[in-house]
Amino acid sequence: MRRYALFFCAWLPLAAQSPTRELAELNWMEIRELVPAKTATLLLPTGTLEAHGVINNGADATAPLALARAMAPKLNALVAPVVPYGVTGSLDAYAGGLTISEAAYRPYMADLLAGFAKIGFRNIVVVNGHGGPQTAILNEVAEKTGREHRVRTLVVNWWTYCSDVTLKVFGEDGGHAGWNETAFIQAIDPKLVRRERYNDALATPRGAEGAWSAYPFPSSIILYKPGQGYVRFDQAKAEAYFKAVVEKMTGLVAEIIAKWDQAGAFK
Ligand SMILES: [Zn+2]
Repeated sequence: MRRYALFFCAWLPLAAQSPTRELAELNWMEIRELVPAKTATLLLPTGTLEAHGVINNGADATAPLALARAMAPKLNALVAPVVPYGVTGSLDAYAGGLTISEAAYRPYMADLLAGFAKIGFRNIVVVNGHGGPQTAILNEVAEKTGREHRVRTLVVNWWTYCSDVTLKVFGEDGGHAGWNETAFIQAIDPKLVRRERYNDALATPRGAEGAWSAYPFPSSIILYKPGQGYVRFDQAKAEAYFKAVVEKMTGLVAEIIAKWDQAGAFK
């Protein structure tokens, strides 16, 4: 992170000129003054509604929104309103699950990204909270938008990029709604964690590649590795995890933007 210290200093002026980093809380006159002259980076959190063990069905939106808000000041970025609906996979059968078809999601996301490019953002970063087919769609749409609108786009799945942070903080791998994701939500808002409803039988390790496939998946807590990622509730670890994830994600985005600038790409 130290390598980007100077870059961070250059970002300070926005704080004095903008009352908020939330795009939807700015008015059109403020946006006209700020984008892209004072800030050219937008963080777009994306999620879905799906069962998540003992955390909220909207966890995949709760997590990237909080993450984007924590990252924004260090990146001199604005935060777009979260896209809470997405392409839920084999957990859509659980109560409260909702999925948007690819046929609807793909053009919707393409219009959103194109819209942000037209507003004037040069760096559009999708902070994605939900994997599966949604990731592939976002990757494709972001690349296409970048090429067509001559903007730089990045899509990051925070839990995958930070899997080493999971190992470091918890001493084991995590899972969908496993200890890591549950801890991330616990750090954001402990009230979203219903620990009294938890027991280890709510978790199932995913099958080895090609071994088995079930619909619906038999648990909403899907462990990446057998015997690892069962939820334990530790507020200090949860907060350390959140902090380390924010730091690693911020470092990635800062480095990629610096390298886009260095390459002179779509300046
Ligand atoms: Zn999730």
